[in-house]
Amino acid sequence: MIIQPKTRGFICTTAHPEGCASQVQRQVDYVKSKPAIDGPRNVLVVGASTGYGLASRIVSSFAAGANTVGVYFDKAAEGARTASAGWYNSAAFEQAALEAGRKSYSIVGDAFSDEIKAKTIDLIKTELGQIDLIIYSVASPRRTHPKTGEVFSSVIKPIGDTYSAKTVNFHNGEVSIATIEPATEEEIRQTVAVMGGEDWQMWIDELSAAGVLAEGATTVAYSYIGPEVTHAVYREGTIGAAKNDLEATALRLNKQLGAAGGRAFVSVNKALVTQSSSAIPVVPLYISALYKVMKENGTHEGCIEQMYRLFSERLYSGTPAAVDEKGLIRVDDWEMRPEIQAEVAKRWEELTTENVYELSDLEGYRREFFQLFGFETDGVDYEADVNPDVQIPNLR
Ligand code: NAD
Repeated sequence: MIIQPKTRGFICTTAHPEGCASQVQRQVDYVKSKPAIDGPRNVLVVGASTGYGLASRIVSSFAAGANTVGVYFDKAAEGARTASAGWYNSAAFEQAALEAGRKSYSIVGDAFSDEIKAKTIDLIKTELGQIDLIIYSVASPRRTHPKTGEVFSSVIKPIGDTYSAKTVNFHNGEVSIATIEPATEEEIRQTVAVMGGEDWQMWIDELSAAGVLAEGATTVAYSYIGPEVTHAVYREGTIGAAKNDLEATALRLNKQLGAAGGRAFVSVNKALVTQSSSAIPVVPLYISALYKVMKENGTHEGCIEQMYRLFSERLYSGTPAAVDEKGLIRVDDWEMRPEIQAEVAKRWEELTTENVYELSDLEGYRREFFQLFGFETDGVDYEADVNPDVQIPNLR
């Protein structure tokens, strides 16, 4: 079939297998062009199919030569419906990893469930024995609690006061003011239950109880802080409350794993175009301004550059990972440089519908959004007939 993008707001309901494969190959090529990392041997990535989780899996496999297990929630093609982008990404990743002689396995399902945790543990036992790195990179709008069955939904809202700020429709460049009412206590509780640290803790407890954590194992989850202009809706809002919980979980896990020489960290990453970040009001306009400033400054990075730097310079540099006063790894350091933030803040004040394509990299944002789904990728013939039914080689 001929596959075209079909968008509804910040969701694209189709994905292109060859475009996704090409995007994955670009990341693999980047990593192969860099020095190898003396890093982990057997890695579990929970939330492995897109964004930061996929990039972590690629760095593990192609820079450190590790075997990987990826857990993710994606759909295969069915009838006239294409598979999701994460499905095509994972198929391409796994093919490349196997060709390079690395073991690679996929488990598709709900990472929050007991069933998927048990299945993952069985797979590790039979195929890898133990794992020495666990990346937790799940971003989800919903979670069913495995013990109580309660279904939680996360919301992106400020806490306390109504918040208004500029936002953009990245399809047509219209800049407007988004106004978001504050969250209720119940919405805060539910968002923390979805995006906080409880599920990460459950994974580590269950892996540990099953004896599949290697001595000295490391675990990392991802967080974001960002600029003043997004604080009310992000860091000091409902998602920020969840991130505080995630960061507190890292401190607890660090003690727990520390007894056997292990480590737990939260890494604060840069704001980037992913399926999750495009759903947050205000953030896409900030990212567009940030991209423009960082590209001009020569310090722009995507997910793969960020994750290569995290592994090579922080987690596996041979010296203890540098952390800030809260114990957080900061690979958002280039984004947060005062001169970058000052320039973004200056442009932010001036941004309107009339000048958005000059003052910000909105065109770059829009293009990267479509590339997340395998579209607008150089070298791919979008007029050609393509088979949407792609197999993942080691799907368990
Ligand atoms: P993403 O949407 O690209 O990836 C999310 C992953 O989670 C996908 O692999 C998806 O399949 C998986 N997933 C979702 N629900 C699942 C479920 N129930 N079971 C199994 N897998 C599930 O998101 P991302 O932007 O890469 O975010 C990953 C982490 O990085 C999040 O913690 C996010 O807050 C953090 N982060 C993102 C940014 C950013 O700007 N994008 C910046 C800093 C930190």
